[in-house]
Amino acid sequence: MENAEYPEIRESVKRLCADFPGAYWQELDRERSYPSAFVKALSDAGFLSVLIPEEFGGSGLGIAAATAILEEVHRSGCNGGACHAQMYTMGTILRYGSDEQKARYLPAIASGELRLQAFGVTEPTAGTDTTRIETFAERRGDNFVVNGQKLWISRAEHSDLMVLLARTQKRDKGAKPSDGMSVFLVDMREAIGRGLTIRPVRTMLNHATTELFFDNLEIPASALIGQEGAGFRYILGGMNAERILIASECIGDARFFIDRASAYARDRRVFGRAIGENQGIQFPIARAYVQMTAAAEMVRKAAALYDAGEPCGTEANMAKMLASEASWFAADMCVQTHGGFGFAEEYDIERKFRETRLYQVAPISTNLILSHVATHVLGLPKSF
Ligand SMILES: Cc1cc2nc3c(=O)[nH]c(=O)nc-3n(C[C@H](O)[C@H](O)[C@H](O)COP(=O)(O)OP(=O)(O)OC[C@H]3O[C@@H](n4cnc5c(N)ncnc54)[C@H](O)[C@@H]3O)c2cc1C
Repeated sequence: MENAEYPEIRESVKRLCADFPGAYWQELDRERSYPSAFVKALSDAGFLSVLIPEEFGGSGLGIAAATAILEEVHRSGCNGGACHAQMYTMGTILRYGSDEQKARYLPAIASGELRLQAFGVTEPTAGTDTTRIETFAERRGDNFVVNGQKLWISRAEHSDLMVLLARTQKRDKGAKPSDGMSVFLVDMREAIGRGLTIRPVRTMLNHATTELFFDNLEIPASALIGQEGAGFRYILGGMNAERILIASECIGDARFFIDRASAYARDRRVFGRAIGENQGIQFPIARAYVQMTAAAEMVRKAAALYDAGEPCGTEANMAKMLASEASWFAADMCVQTHGGFGFAEEYDIERKFRETRLYQVAPISTNLILSHVATHVLGLPKSF
């Protein structure tokens, strides 16, 4: 079953992606380098600004259109992880920024002149327990002075701006542990070398992720977004969009693996017949398709709720979990279907296999989604 929504967008994304074939990604993967040409092409075509309202220079199409774009990117064998955050990180400014911040930044983000695709939340000691972050921004006159450390901050070297979550009040001083955190828009061009150091972290996939060290970094008070101390709520607000979009990338990955496995199973002949004639090969491909189709429906539901301005936290979480599990099952199936060739770099399957594994851990791990459903939907007692 083909996804019929936004056929024209899907077709033009597919055409764009055809200029970035497997060989392009394989070379980047070997060198762990950033797909600048691909990101520029997506940006120039306006695909990264669909969530920005027209009054600020975007196309204001909404999240369902954005899921169509990222799904097709991933189905084509490309990877949106290098730039998907350019689509949604600006949501923090759009929802909570001042009129001046919106006018100053959103049009330049929409045109691609400014890259806002770094999002600094995770810290090495706090892990998923975000209220335990320790990076601290202390008010001094017209500035905040930031000290601390972040880990797994992707695309920081390829961003002009970063949305940063830092404490502005110690955890034990607020009424709730989530009080006292604030969000800042950090200008990376001014920060690097003046208190901010970026160190790349090499991982099993080419994801341009980094570690950040803040050593008395001065940022102007005008970098604060919204109200001081209310940052945790602002960050949570942006997470639904991120989860829905990443779920759509997983659907694209699953479709990539199913397309490739089906084609290979029809062509590859062993024991005098196509391997796809054996049900031992057919059934896992069919199962991957069933799982992907069900997950895609949940992504569609979450996106529709989001676009209607309805609460969608549970649906966004469930979509991300189902889609990341469907893509992982499809990845494993695709390797198995290809036998030894599943491991060959030139087939792109081993690369996509490594890439799609990430999404059961980031941006939120499966256990934390299950915990959300258990406690918020089913009324089970909280375990932490
Ligand atoms: C490649 C990559 C890119 C990333 N990019 C970014 C980024 O750009 N910005 C950013 O801020 N972060 C980023 N992250 C961080 C990512 O969001 C976290 O890695 C993820 O949320 C999991 O947190 P953690 O690694 O601290 O795991 P931990 O919190 O240490 O958890 C480890 C494991 O224990 C489980 N666990 C923890 N507590 C419980 C519990 N109470 N019950 C059951 N199980 C539990 C978790 O589910 C997980 O499986 C990135 C991570 C990676 C790997």
